[in-house]
Amino acid sequence: MAIFIPEDKILEIKNAADIVELVSEVVHLKKAGKNFVGLCPFHTEKTPSFTVSPEKQIFYCFGCGAGGNIFSFLMKTDGLAFPEAARSLARRYGIDIPRRSLTPEQQKRMGERESLLKINREAMDFYSRALRRGPSGRKAMAYLNKRGLSSEIIDRFNLGYAPKGWDHLLNFFSKKGVPAARLEKSGLILPKKDGRGYYDRFRERIVFPIIDVNQAVIGFGGRVMDDSLPKYLNSPETAVYNKSRSLYGLHLSKEKCRKAQSVYIVEGYLDLLMLHQHGIENAVATLGTALTADHVRMLSRYVPRMILVYDSDEAGIRSALRCIETFWREHVDFSRGDVFREEKADTHILVLPDGHDPDSYLREKGVGPFERAAVEAPGIISFLIEQSIGMHGLSTEGKIRIVTDLKGPLAAINDNVARTLYIKELAERIGLEENIILEKVREGSSEKEKKEALRHKNITDKSGNRLEQQIIAMMLQFPDILPEIKKYNVIEFIENRDLQSIGRSILENQISSAEQVSELLSLIDNPEQQRLISALAMIEESWDENGCMKLIVQFVKKGQRRRDRQILERIKTAERENDQETLNQLLREKQKLAVLSQNQRLA
Ligand SMILES: [Zn+2]
Repeated sequence: MAIFIPEDKILEIKNAADIVELVSEVVHLKKAGKNFVGLCPFHTEKTPSFTVSPEKQIFYCFGCGAGGNIFSFLMKTDGLAFPEAARSLARRYGIDIPRRSLTPEQQKRMGERESLLKINREAMDFYSRALRRGPSGRKAMAYLNKRGLSSEIIDRFNLGYAPKGWDHLLNFFSKKGVPAARLEKSGLILPKKDGRGYYDRFRERIVFPIIDVNQAVIGFGGRVMDDSLPKYLNSPETAVYNKSRSLYGLHLSKEKCRKAQSVYIVEGYLDLLMLHQHGIENAVATLGTALTADHVRMLSRYVPRMILVYDSDEAGIRSALRCIETFWREHVDFSRGDVFREEKADTHILVLPDGHDPDSYLREKGVGPFERAAVEAPGIISFLIEQSIGMHGLSTEGKIRIVTDLKGPLAAINDNVARTLYIKELAERIGLEENIILEKVREGSSEKEKKEALRHKNITDKSGNRLEQQIIAMMLQFPDILPEIKKYNVIEFIENRDLQSIGRSILENQISSAEQVSELLSLIDNPEQQRLISALAMIEESWDENGCMKLIVQFVKKGQRRRDRQILERIKTAERENDQETLNQLLREKQKLAVLSQNQRLA
């Protein structure tokens, strides 16, 4: 059950707790000017970039971009959800949290989520009963047993069965009085093409409930028991289910992962279950998506080492190349502080030999050899080197091809030390001089830079990103300016949605001092926005009234010009299309804006 913590209690916890004290329990902190710094607990580093501000009561890591307040710190280190973190802190400081009724808005939002989670839980029970009942349920159970799954594993993962037919689940819920429109939001039923009624999404399939680390049932996967297609079917994304942030099995494996300091990542539900069946419980599966940066971030709360398991070289190579994109390319270009987020997880690729899948491999060779193979599994780049050698051989021709294959991936690594080491490894492995390879990689680099410059140009042209970030940084660090921000409608001109929403929250919640940044963080539950706030509050600039006004004027003028341009474009289109109605409307809008600009005339 979700627990709501009243705001005055959150404030009380905040007043009682001190972020420096809390962080000091995990990180050795040293004083550095106004702040404290230490080695980041969320990524591996040798020089401290993890910064804690006692004044603002927030932390931010300039290496990996982790940031937040006391609550987020506890959430990240202990893998807790917000209410749990708040409760744990409350306990620690002897603050009593009573249950309290919610505001209507909160009720509505919580209500929708809760209602989806409740539907999912009841659906899970429905499927689970169906697996244990009747001839078709018994057939499904026999299939699972034949695949080698014990009843213990079937129970532990709450497996179920969606019976053959179009409306079993639909009827089950309609008897309970759940309206079809609400059920549709869960993705468990679909509207019929002719618009008359609905039908069950999962039919005649084994059902795998997807459960998150807080034990909430957030979605489902379904697998056929024969050769029909699609073999796998998943819940669509819903208000409670986001594929790129969900990992199958993490709710059961997180503690094991922490203990083992490593995690196996497999591609399918059954592979995952088989690993557990063989006693390898530090394992998760992705859900029909490639491993995302969010996945990596989630997992790195528990483990430093990740082993991706594949049953073929091709799958391994595809994944290795994608990982390079995900781990090394993920830059966020960011005001002058040049903050970027890098995920440099220690990732290894394990391709099982002879087309084995985890189950067949474990059956034939056993757990020992599997674990030994995992220990020896090469890192991403080493894996690509070996694959390329395997493909092209070590003739002169082959070596040229190998270097060509690898120049892109090597150039993509923006850690100089790591790149140099990999170039050395490649040079030694194929017996070429480092210089020659380096030159090739530079070619790759300049291609990459061109691409990146282009991308950066797009961002700045589209959203004036740096300027927008500066506006928010200014609002966070120099609250005296907020009345002016309001007066000139500055927020309306911010195009980046996260930044705009942050700007609105600052104004709405009347954040009026640096100390309240941490307050703001607990009002916002979007992790990307939390990260942005921590970063923008931490990168200090010295603000004065004059400089701020200049920035505002520059920004608003630019925004007004953009808006005027856009209206003119639309007017031209309407004229061309002879759309009189739209045209009149646009002209009225234009007039209104002219008056508005007049009123807001900027110095
Ligand atoms: Zn960090």
